[in-house]
Formats: sequence, C-alpha cells, structure tokens
Amino acid sequence: MSDVTTTPAVLILLGPPGSGKGTQARLLEEAFGLVQLSTGDLLRAAVAAGSDAGRAAKSVMEAGGLVSDEIVLGILADRMNDADTKRGVILDGFPRTAAQAAALDGVLARSEQRVTQVLSLDVADGPMIARVSGRYTCAACGEGYHDQFKHPATAGVCDKCGSTEFKRRADDTAETAGARLAAYHAQTAPLIAYYKGRGVLEQIDAMADIATVSRSMQVCVKQVIS
Ligand code: AMP
Repeated sequence: MSDVTTTPAVLILLGPPGSGKGTQARLLEEAFGLVQLSTGDLLRAAVAAGSDAGRAAKSVMEAGGLVSDEIVLGILADRMNDADTKRGVILDGFPRTAAQAAALDGVLARSEQRVTQVLSLDVADGPMIARVSGRYTCAACGEGYHDQFKHPATAGVCDKCGSTEFKRRADDTAETAGARLAAYHAQTAPLIAYYKGRGVLEQIDAMADIATVSRSMQVCVKQVIS
C-alpha cells in the first residue's frame, strides 16, 4: 500500500466503457478536491472546437478505435499544466495502453511524481453494452443519467443544475461499444497486472450501485490522500 501523499496525487481509473469511470471520477473530485481529467472529454472538446487534433481524432473515435498517442499525450499534457490540477488529478480513460502508461511515468518522473493509486473497476462484459447504449448527460453540467438505471428526479430536468438540455455521445451505440470493449480487453486490461506489480492497484467491484461503488473507492483513496 502507498504512503499518504503530500505531493499532487495522481489517481488512475481503469475500467471498460460503461464501468462508471466518469461518474465515479466526478464523485471523487467532490470528495477529495481533485480534478478529473478525461481524455475522452478532452478529445470530444477538440472535435467540437474543430482543432487540428480534433479533426484527426474524429473518425477514429466514431469507429471506437484508439486515437494516436501523440494527440492524446499532447492534449493531456496541456491540461495537466493548468493551475487547478495542483492538488491532484483523477485520470479517466488514460492510460489506455502500455505505451501510454510508460509515457505517463516519464512525464511524472520529470517533476519527481509518480502514480499514487490505480482503481480498477471490475465489471462483467455482458451488461456493459446496455449500460453504454442507454446513457446520456446533462448538456450544461455533464451530470450522467441512464435510460434504465438513473433517471433525473423530475423527468427532463437535471438534478444537479436544473438544465433541460441533455446529450448523447456519438460513439455510445451498441455497435461501437462492442469495438471499444474489445479495444479495452486487448490494450488496456494488461495495465491491471502492470500496476499490481507496482503495488498501487486497488480492485473495486463495480457491479454494485453507484453509491456503494463510490464508498468502496473512497475507502481506498483515503489510504493515500489526506
Ligand atoms: P472515453 O470517453 O474514455 O470512452 O473515450 C472515447 C473515445 O476517445 C475512445 O473510444 C477513443 O477513441 C478516444 N480516447 C479516449 N482516451 C484515449 C486514450 N487514452 N488513448 C486513445 N484514445 C482515447
């Protein structure tokens, strides 16, 4: 188990699409004052902005493949330099490959940092496609909802900010979710053993409800962040 850290914390959430990384990252953000950095969100913002990186990433994302390391690392490194990340970050969707994990180690080593803790969200494959294909978010604040599992308390109104605008991701179709799940097993799941070998891995049963999963994660994070 890692020591309680005083340097900026670097938490990593590992898990297949639909395992709840985004939802849980937002809860950890609130509980520990950290900043969620989702490479998927950063890439979607680049696509929406029509930047060079966004134009290059768009078709790869629509097919459920992995965007090049050059683009992903560039976008992430820019964001990690922002002042609000000084207490620490929760990486959601990164690293996704052994090469990205090595690149992250290199970037952190330059500022005498290292990965603080990796939380692996363990889920069965079967329900993941249903989870992914039914989800949507508030267009204003990003709060997540699901057609089956999590409705707003008042239909059509965001619980968190009151907005009535919602959106669905272009790649949250059953077909693309299958490709993304396959990419996870081929390229990302091996990172579980990598971080286990480094003594920073915590495995979380993520099939339970959102609040239960969050409580298990917070117990782990409290071991490394004061
Ligand atoms: P996510 O929001 O994490 O599900 O990511 C959505 C899509 O963005 C993925 O299916 C990939 O196409 C791309 N993406 C996000 N993070 C990465 C990453 N670390 N490396 C490569 N591609 C990524």
